[in-house]
Amino acid sequence: MTVSHWQRAGQQAREVDFLVVGAGLVGGAAAYFARQAHNRQVVVTDARAIAQGASGRNAGFMVSGLGVYYHRAIEQYGHATAREVWALSRRSFDHWRAFIAASPFPVPLDNCGSLLLAESPAEAAELEATARALEADKIDIRYYPRDPLGRGYHAAIEQPLDAAVQPYLLARSVTAQSGAEVINNNEVYRLEAAGDRVLVYSRKYLFTARYALLCINAYAPQLDPYFRGKVRPTRAQCLVTEPLAAPPLPYCGYSDYGYMYYRSTFDGRFLLGGGRKYYREAENDTSDDRLNPAVQAYLDRYLQRYFPDVQAPVAQRWSGIMGFSADGLPLVGSLPGKPRIGFAVGFNGHGLALGAAAAELAVGKLLTGSAAGAFDAERFE
Ligand SMILES: Cc1cc2nc3c(=O)[nH]c(=O)nc-3n(C[C@H](O)[C@H](O)[C@H](O)COP(=O)(O)OP(=O)(O)OC[C@H]3O[C@@H](n4cnc5c(N)ncnc54)[C@H](O)[C@@H]3O)c2cc1C
Repeated sequence: MTVSHWQRAGQQAREVDFLVVGAGLVGGAAAYFARQAHNRQVVVTDARAIAQGASGRNAGFMVSGLGVYYHRAIEQYGHATAREVWALSRRSFDHWRAFIAASPFPVPLDNCGSLLLAESPAEAAELEATARALEADKIDIRYYPRDPLGRGYHAAIEQPLDAAVQPYLLARSVTAQSGAEVINNNEVYRLEAAGDRVLVYSRKYLFTARYALLCINAYAPQLDPYFRGKVRPTRAQCLVTEPLAAPPLPYCGYSDYGYMYYRSTFDGRFLLGGGRKYYREAENDTSDDRLNPAVQAYLDRYLQRYFPDVQAPVAQRWSGIMGFSADGLPLVGSLPGKPRIGFAVGFNGHGLALGAAAAELAVGKLLTGSAAGAFDAERFE
């Protein structure tokens, strides 16, 4: 949203060393690396508040790798890139676990591992091919040729190093540990390069920053045309039940090529999300986070079909907006001709898998010109 002539009268000028735009998991981690690893004075600003975007609304799965199965990632990106991205997700997990260990308040984490489940024989064949590719790369997994849960799935892969977290508290903790000042309720609506400074126009302030880093994921195309066609806002929806007597699943479960996901929460409820695969027209290319009743009805049917033992009523339903990149890999870089305006966006529904490593790479690239590897947005040039 722009600012009018009348509103501008109330705006203040403010000098900043390193400005992070977006206070989600990625913005919080970027603030931490800029402050703690590079000793910059950091301000984080957000249109809303800490983790009000996807970071506070996701399912909390720390699942290794990309959204596509591993053998498909090898076909699509090449073996070296698939391996590199896998390693970056493990690096992200190390960072999140270190933040949780050092947190000033408890952040629930369950090192429960994940189960990727096949909903059809065709998906089972995909899972088997992916299991073989992971084993060939000496990645620790277990393949089940049948449904280990006895719920009507066809095969599964267990990834024992994956985990479930409380993502909203994690984002708040990471931002708190960054030591950065946070300015909420302050949408940024324009950035300009001005010599060795960046002018950042926002609702409350006209910032003059040495560096600005955009960590606004799905919202990037709204702020700068560079991201149009590179990042697509996409809605994801969830529900959670009232507490259950016993958890139906001791893992993070994923199926239908990652389009469906489910877990137990830390207070004994069952969380189920996904369903957008069958409603792409409504769910893709939107930043409107109102619920789509058709997707929620699909989630209800899925719950009845695969988890009929979950009898508790649904307590809450919500949605959030994810950023999908044009080629399925995150984008780290700086705006063309504006080397002091960096970005880390396009997490394809896997910000907990890749966000901390991407934030570290983005800060390093912006401040020191270090390489961003597979995430480098120069691949689009
Ligand atoms: C329902 C759902 C389930 C998901 N499940 C998982 C999961 O289990 N595992 C996983 O890894 N990922 C999951 N994801 C994806 C994950 O949540 C995201 O990849 C991750 O949160 C991205 O973090 P971020 O900090 O880049 O973006 P966000 O958390 O969206 O933060 C961006 C911030 O930028 C702010 N902003 C935007 N524009 C401006 C502006 N112009 N000025 C100032 N501020 C601005 C927003 O207010 C927002 O706070 C899920 C997402 C959803 C919605």
